[in-house]
Amino acid sequence: MNTEPIHIISLGAGVQSSTMALMAAHGEITPMPTAAIFADTQDEPESVYRWLDWLEKELPFPIHRVTRGSLSQQALKMRTTKDGRSFTVTSIPYFTLSKNGDRGKIPHRTCTADYKIAPILKKARELGGIKRGQKTVGVIQWIGISLDEVHRMKPSREKWAKSRWPLIDLRMSRGDCLLWMQKHGYPQPPRSACVYCPYHSDAEWRRLKKEEPLAFERALAFERALAFERACQCQKGLTDNFHSQLFLHRSCVPLDQVDFSTNEDHGQQVMFGNECEGMCGV
Ligand code: SF4
Repeated sequence: MNTEPIHIISLGAGVQSSTMALMAAHGEITPMPTAAIFADTQDEPESVYRWLDWLEKELPFPIHRVTRGSLSQQALKMRTTKDGRSFTVTSIPYFTLSKNGDRGKIPHRTCTADYKIAPILKKARELGGIKRGQKTVGVIQWIGISLDEVHRMKPSREKWAKSRWPLIDLRMSRGDCLLWMQKHGYPQPPRSACVYCPYHSDAEWRRLKKEEPLAFERALAFERALAFERACQCQKGLTDNFHSQLFLHRSCVPLDQVDFSTNEDHGQQVMFGNECEGMCGV
């Protein structure tokens, strides 16, 4: 019986994880993984889905696409507790504006855990034939965190899985990944993240608006739907745990009112460093 753990790639379908997968295909990272797993929130820009279709043909191992359904639909679904408070089952890292004008952030985000980590681990368990209660490592999970994001490294919470960060071992930054892709004649991978992700930097919002207007429109539609749902809850006299308006942009202004026409920085830096598991934006 083969007791060696299998190697799988957590594929975010962005620059770092795509480079890692292609380096494995070239034999520059060993051993050859059993598979890559992409957890689909169903809310990525079209460029990411096109990229996945392309990447699938380049890799000698399969890409398993797994999903828990549409994150945006779940995030808009308001539920009510017995004592009349409304809540959503999954939460996105929105910016908040309280009635007295204080700006903040949602304190506890669950979207990555629910829609990225859980489906990937479920599939990895299946591929590794992990038994209930297994304590020995059966899966080595490659995570595409690069040297410039070293603070995102976190050990696996599962006893049967062990995290590995090949780009850190190779001391490769995101820029090094782009150079590696270029040197091998590959196109530049997209930046992967949900179209409405509040972790987007101003530069990324600007890029989306200019280069992927459909994705930007989807983000606007999501923010409008969110405001509508919350207004309905207020009309019904329901309160929620946040007592604040929710926004996608740090300025706490609806996205369609943020001026992205110049290169002016509105104070929103890339915030994927806050997403410690290294599942989004890589
Ligand atoms: S990309 Fe953003 S919204 Fe989507 S799962 Fe990751 S942190 Fe959540």
